[in-house]
Amino acid sequence: MGKRYDVVIVGGGHNGLVAGTYLGKAAKRVLVVEQAALAGGLSQSDHVIPEAPDHMINTGTAELIHIRASPVMQELDLRSHGWKTVETDPMYAWLDPDGGSIAVFRDPRRTAEDIARYSSADARAYLEFIELIDGLMQFAGAMGKGDPGVRTAGNYLELAKVAIRNRALKTKLQLISTAPADQLAAEWFEHPATQALLLGIVAGAGPFDTDGNGIAYALFGLLHRVGVSKAVGGMRMFADTLVSAYAASGGELMLNAEVAEIVIRDGTTQGVCLVDGRMIEADVVIATCDPISAARLATPGGLDRVTRTRLEYAPAHRANVGPSLLNVASSQPFRLRRHRRTDGVDLNQAVGLIGTADELRQALVQARRGLVPMTPVFSLSPMTNWDPSIAPDGQGVAYIYLPVFPVDVNAGWDSAKAPAANAVIARAADYYDGFDGELGRWFETCSDRETRTGLTKGCVTHVDFGAQRTGAKRPAFGLGGPEPLARGLFLGGAGIHPGGGVSGGPGRLAAKRVLDYLT
Ligand SMILES: Cc1cc2nc3c(=O)[nH]c(=O)nc-3n(C[C@H](O)[C@H](O)[C@H](O)COP(=O)(O)OP(=O)(O)OC[C@H]3O[C@@H](n4cnc5c(N)ncnc54)[C@H](O)[C@@H]3O)c2cc1C
Repeated sequence: MGKRYDVVIVGGGHNGLVAGTYLGKAAKRVLVVEQAALAGGLSQSDHVIPEAPDHMINTGTAELIHIRASPVMQELDLRSHGWKTVETDPMYAWLDPDGGSIAVFRDPRRTAEDIARYSSADARAYLEFIELIDGLMQFAGAMGKGDPGVRTAGNYLELAKVAIRNRALKTKLQLISTAPADQLAAEWFEHPATQALLLGIVAGAGPFDTDGNGIAYALFGLLHRVGVSKAVGGMRMFADTLVSAYAASGGELMLNAEVAEIVIRDGTTQGVCLVDGRMIEADVVIATCDPISAARLATPGGLDRVTRTRLEYAPAHRANVGPSLLNVASSQPFRLRRHRRTDGVDLNQAVGLIGTADELRQALVQARRGLVPMTPVFSLSPMTNWDPSIAPDGQGVAYIYLPVFPVDVNAGWDSAKAPAANAVIARAADYYDGFDGELGRWFETCSDRETRTGLTKGCVTHVDFGAQRTGAKRPAFGLGGPEPLARGLFLGGAGIHPGGGVSGGPGRLAAKRVLDYLT
């Protein structure tokens, strides 16, 4: 009989490590079991391009935003565990094909000045819009305090205060939390360039023509409040920081260990069984894999039918649209060809947004139908411009994120993948120098991500984002509260509140729920 743990955590992604660290600090015996050779999950980097073995490539996340606003940073003292980041301002720039641009700065007023170069009405609207988003964030902050499944008198009081403070914005706030992001962009902003900027940034949150997707604009509030960091040395730095904090809390980490079953007998969780047949016993299991996978891992009959059904029906890239990622390693740096500004702002330090609002809309229609978009729309992060340490001197890494791409294609990815990557690179090369020196590329579609990581449909938020899947409704109505799915079984990854993105919030919430459960 092996050692018995208080808590076994399935998955050593960032949320699994965060949950483990809180529990370790609370003197629980914790084991994180990770199937991959490295911890970090979707927040990792590696030397994945054989032709460019010295280029460090982010294989998922590249930007740290939510965690900058998260209490996890301070509570787990991440800065003392090797945390090293770089910040850029402007953070993004929409690149007009003719050489013009709109940059997004930390300061919303400066951003509005940039928008004014296209439309002064949009510049005024932007500042009003950001004020509205600030109201939205105040509500989110009040609702996010504590467990969304447990409302206390204090929560209601705080919500009431926020409601009174923002009463003049009530109707607009209701609209923003129920309308599609695309509708809001078109309603608020007259110029296609402004619409392209807004949609280009929120497109990563899923189909922007879906009701309730407008809350994705909260990202703009975060950008102006806390900004964006990039991990120095690639996301490996971030994963290593979390592993270090976790180890310091006394937790154990088992790598190359795939869980085959979350063992539930007579309604009570017993632990996990690995694919090699080893059984690890624990009082509690936290599954930080996606909820659909968690349901499949549970012993047949271990979850009641309603719970299992609701988990299995949680949407994961249900519209067949999700982000693909193309990294290119080059012997040259990536520099903009014609977007040089006369005001001293260096757009090579920003993430470039390429594509019009109409191209994004067309891409969405095509991706839904299982077609590779005729005109690829993407953001390009010239990573080595702010972190030269990830490639040999003078060389480059371009991280190209395609927010609106099909999960499955009708033609099959075997034949569609190479032409799709070539089309992206052809368009990117019209904006940036550096592609002539291409050494190799790493292109991962959602379907590839599912194969590599087991993540259902390669869904980067585990469960689709939207107003109907937030708070206590995430991952599903009735399952977003503190009660375990079966005695001793909790979820703890991006599939629970506050959702996808690198915030550590789900891991922190799961740890709190488990500590309450164990006392
Ligand atoms: C291309 C891309 C770009 C992104 N960009 C950003 C960004 O810029 N900013 C941002 O905030 N977010 C971004 N995200 C989203 C963000 O990375 C994720 O939402 C977040 O990392 C999820 O963390 P997690 O710990 O909940 O889950 P994951 O990172 O998915 O971790 C789950 C872990 O569980 C493990 N696991 C699964 N099944 C088993 C099993 N049976 N046995 C053992 N282990 C198992 C997996 O291997 C994995 O390590 C991006 C994601 C991708 C893919």
